[in-house]
Amino acid sequence: MAFANPFRQDGVWLKANLHTHTTLSDGDTDPAARVAQYAAAGYQVLALTDHRRTADLSGLATPGLTLLRGLEAHPACPNGAIYHLVCLNVPADFPYDETRPAQEIIAAVRAAGGEVIVAHPYWCGHTVAQILALENAIALEVYNATCSKIGKADSSVFWDYLLATGRTLPAVAVDDVHRGRDIFMGWTMIRAASAGVDDVMAALRAGSYYASCGPEFLDVQISDGVAEVRCSPVREIQFMCRGASGRSFYAEAGAELTSARWEYAKAAGYLRVQIADAQGRRAWTNPVVL
Ligand SMILES: [Zn+2]
Ligand SMILES: [Zn+2]
Repeated sequence: MAFANPFRQDGVWLKANLHTHTTLSDGDTDPAARVAQYAAAGYQVLALTDHRRTADLSGLATPGLTLLRGLEAHPACPNGAIYHLVCLNVPADFPYDETRPAQEIIAAVRAAGGEVIVAHPYWCGHTVAQILALENAIALEVYNATCSKIGKADSSVFWDYLLATGRTLPAVAVDDVHRGRDIFMGWTMIRAASAGVDDVMAALRAGSYYASCGPEFLDVQISDGVAEVRCSPVREIQFMCRGASGRSFYAEAGAELTSARWEYAKAAGYLRVQIADAQGRRAWTNPVVL
């Protein structure tokens, strides 16, 4: 499927954390204080996604911060693992039942007006087949900050394996904040018509966003055999494609890159862009099928 290029959409940029825990489950901070943390840090969208339960958003309204009510579901997965499914924009009385098959939970979330993101596949130890078994998830997490505690924050290799099968999912970066240093490390820059919940959900469904741990994309255009990127100063710009296709550009020692241009071949299958700054922090665009 084709995703909306966020650099070709009218609207506003919204910095979002789409995976958040509080004292409603195993987080160390209560919902009101968690909302205040993200508002003070300059975020425009925050999804509260505690394990197995929704938050009461009444009383949490904060100027400039759009709140999404969500939860993290943990249905069984074929061959032993457990799925972690981030369910966004569900009603307060969403009937969560962990014994239901994952696909039924996804259907119920969507019927209630929400959407599902597959959380931290690297940390879960998922196989590609386990993700291919799920229909209608709108994204996976390419970066999950709390998973850095065991060195498994970055699922980009897993994402490439999935993309190589032809299942073209976009990807978000999230904190999955619980406690400690797992906050403000990974976020999603959403290009939406407005900061309203419906427009944010529409942008997420369209794939109109990119994921980041620090670097900023300023423009990305991929068409007619040419990929062009402009970004904040970085050390590496990588055009990632299927298998042995693709191309990396590296800054000279002591220098930085702010743009790159590459002529690709359609046989490369798909193309996504990732960049890394001098601190090793990455950002990822969504893939384009060639
Ligand atoms: Zn999880
Ligand atoms: Zn979580």
